[in-house]
Amino acid sequence: MPEGPEIRLAAEKVAAAVEGKAVQRVMFSQHRLRRFGPKLSGSVVSKIETKGKALLTHFDNGISIYSHNQLYGVWRIVAAGSLPKTKRRLRLALHADDRSALLYSASDISVWQTQDLDKHPFLAKLGPDILDPTVSYRCVATRLLDKPFLNRPLHSILMDQSFMAGVGNYLRSEILFQARLSPKLKPKQLNTTAVESLANAILDISRRSYESKGVTLPSRMRNEIQNQQSGRARNRFYVFGREGKSCYLCNSKIGRQEMGGRRLYWCVNCQGGQSGG
Ligand SMILES: [Zn+2]
Repeated sequence: MPEGPEIRLAAEKVAAAVEGKAVQRVMFSQHRLRRFGPKLSGSVVSKIETKGKALLTHFDNGISIYSHNQLYGVWRIVAAGSLPKTKRRLRLALHADDRSALLYSASDISVWQTQDLDKHPFLAKLGPDILDPTVSYRCVATRLLDKPFLNRPLHSILMDQSFMAGVGNYLRSEILFQARLSPKLKPKQLNTTAVESLANAILDISRRSYESKGVTLPSRMRNEIQNQQSGRARNRFYVFGREGKSCYLCNSKIGRQEMGGRRLYWCVNCQGGQSGG
């Protein structure tokens, strides 16, 4: 389930492998894209960039590759010429002298003139990026009260990439728990304090997940939980994937519900205190 933080971490690995280097061979497996292979082979990758859950590979000849991992795509970095054994379908390969960056399974790939990327239908409607350090919680709070979002339930807004780019399913559950808000509430039902705590949670949880490679629990809390448990329990989340287990704060059972077609986990006791539940 790659979300903004996972895509940013993957992009850093891709950048370490090919950024600033001439890519001797570029290979697309999808028929509609194959003609771009020879056009890009030998060009230098000038920059690897992320926009929400999309990854952009920019070349020095004014061409960019857009790729979106969807639910199943994965990037692998390998020594040049050594393709790993896998049942996954290789969709895009960037072979530099020493290493190769390989994109498996994802099929949402397209090739653009870099200057035209803002016309890409997904990129054109993206909101501010959750990992953009210039985005402040005030900006997020203001956005929550904007007309397109004011009267929609929080579980829906958080999955809308035009609200904040990069939030996905596990971040949604974790953000709402940290803000102690019911997923069914709408921004217009929130008081100023609740709007601020939600805006803070959106940025805090996303940035913590990026910094700790997919863990949203604060490190101190994670250590405390691990000390109480035997074995090597891997605790990453407050609520996500913890249906039926005890809430770390109040001991109530964590619930699970489909919202917007995706599973959402929450503690009704911690998050049900406001109207709208
Ligand atoms: Zn609770």
